[in-house]
Amino acid sequence: MNTKILIPTQLFVGRTELLAEKTEQFLQEQFCKNQSQNIQSCYCNECRKIKNHQHEFIVFISPEKDYTVKDLDIIFEKANFALDQNQKFFFVLQKAQTLSSTCANKLLKILEEPPAGYNFILQTNNPTSILPTILSRCHVTNFSNKNPEELDYAAEYSSLTSFFYNQNLDNPADFEKELRKLELSDSQSIEILNSIINFYAKKILWHHEGKNPQEHIEYSESVYKFLNEKLKKAPQSGSSGLFWKNIYISFPKFARK
Ligand SMILES: [Zn+2]
Repeated sequence: MNTKILIPTQLFVGRTELLAEKTEQFLQEQFCKNQSQNIQSCYCNECRKIKNHQHEFIVFISPEKDYTVKDLDIIFEKANFALDQNQKFFFVLQKAQTLSSTCANKLLKILEEPPAGYNFILQTNNPTSILPTILSRCHVTNFSNKNPEELDYAAEYSSLTSFFYNQNLDNPADFEKELRKLELSDSQSIEILNSIINFYAKKILWHHEGKNPQEHIEYSESVYKFLNEKLKKAPQSGSSGLFWKNIYISFPKFARK
């Protein structure tokens, strides 16, 4: 069994077929006992059940079109039961970009504090259409590197934007490493900054809609204002690296009152 720390709420980003494969592989790592063997070609009982979507501790949810609240009922039914110690249960939510705000609100209740042993894998080909409140609960894994052309522009850069979305603001060394890997041009930087601004614009609306605490609204508004100021001093002639480092260092931090 896999002993790595398991994060209970995850968002997998990438092409649909690729995500099916990556999710299967991830689940095999959780359940298959033949870790020495190449898990892809393992035909143990656990692996077979995973491949056939018949595993008793995994539920795949795939809406016909967009999610309805009814599609989520099974989560609340299942999660009512306490699991044995060390038992893991997974919900795989395909096409998470089609979760409406009503569905997302319902789902948030359980994502905020999943019952012990219960895990969620949300899959999407377009993370920018995932509601910010959901996104902020998830650990994002981007599998899209191989096919960025099929994805939303900013999705390709989620390794950078996730620092801001997940409030990962105390790791300048990691941030710089990511920055160096991406080698952003000035125009790419402006595109990305614009998509982060859009993200926070959405977030403000969302907080208002959900009548969320004033401090959340104020925070998102302060980030929105901060980023718009930065946009006015957009990078020129190859100063992108410095531009992003500045944003990272001075990015507003959320203070719980
Ligand atoms: Zn196996």
